Amino acid sequence: VPRAFRAHISCLGQGKGALITLRDLTREQQIERMRADFVANASHELRTPLTALSGFLETIQGPAKSDPKAQEKFLGLMKSQAERMRRLIDDLLSLSRIEMNEHVRPSGEVDLAQVAHHVRDVLSGMAKDFGCEIAVETDGSVTIAGSRDELVQVLQNLAENALKYGSSGKLVEIIVRKNGEWADVSVRDHGPGIAEQHIPRLTERFYRVNVQDSRSRGGTGLGLAIVKHIVNRHRGKLVITSELGKGSTFLMRLPVKG
Ligand code: ADP
Repeated sequence: VPRAFRAHISCLGQGKGALITLRDLTREQQIERMRADFVANASHELRTPLTALSGFLETIQGPAKSDPKAQEKFLGLMKSQAERMRRLIDDLLSLSRIEMNEHVRPSGEVDLAQVAHHVRDVLSGMAKDFGCEIAVETDGSVTIAGSRDELVQVLQNLAENALKYGSSGKLVEIIVRKNGEWADVSVRDHGPGIAEQHIPRLTERFYRVNVQDSRSRGGTGLGLAIVKHIVNRHRGKLVITSELGKGSTFLMRLPVKG
């Protein structure tokens, strides 16, 4: 028995033999470790805005007590921290819902070109704020088996990232193509790009290239983890390519027939 495995022997009764179960303890320990890390990270992420909220509250009750202007400023700051907590909880709930159903194939039919146009419309206000334009390029409708809501979420997360981390004022492209048995949807930005060593880790929960930068842009560190799980559920692949100084492309490749 290799060192990483342990045999569990249960006697089934005299003369009836024994049942031997081999368990990969290293794998179990890894999963346990990942679970513990996740709980620690999630608690830390939630505690940060909570600490800020308590601090602002104390200021309103103390030093800013008789200063309505300062109170208004701190109430505004409290609102943005409360929004941050809400975003985090929404993302945590999405992630756990998708993970629980990851083995279930989504049912339904989705036109990815329609999803791309919908996401462009939903994000038109955000794009304007960043001085960006979202351009959609398709060959007409590309219909696949899948969940529309989930694929909207994927494309929205990717396009929001392209706006948040790509350079302001530059174009963000959403390209939908049918490629034989596959439907390819890519989101391309012309921003600063991502250094190679970060790319394999981007879909880990709470992994960010720059934590402060992500927080200041309202990021939770869960967007790409959600994307990865939805793509897995659709039996697809996510391919990330990036060049420093040129921009990044997030390609989602989904089977047309599900
Ligand atoms: P966040 O909520 O921080 O945006 P994500 O999981 O969506 O979390 O993304 C993880 C990290 O990947 C981000 O914090 C950012 O550092 C990096 N990233 C994602 N998309 C892009 C992009 N288009 N250009 C540059 N960096 C990106």
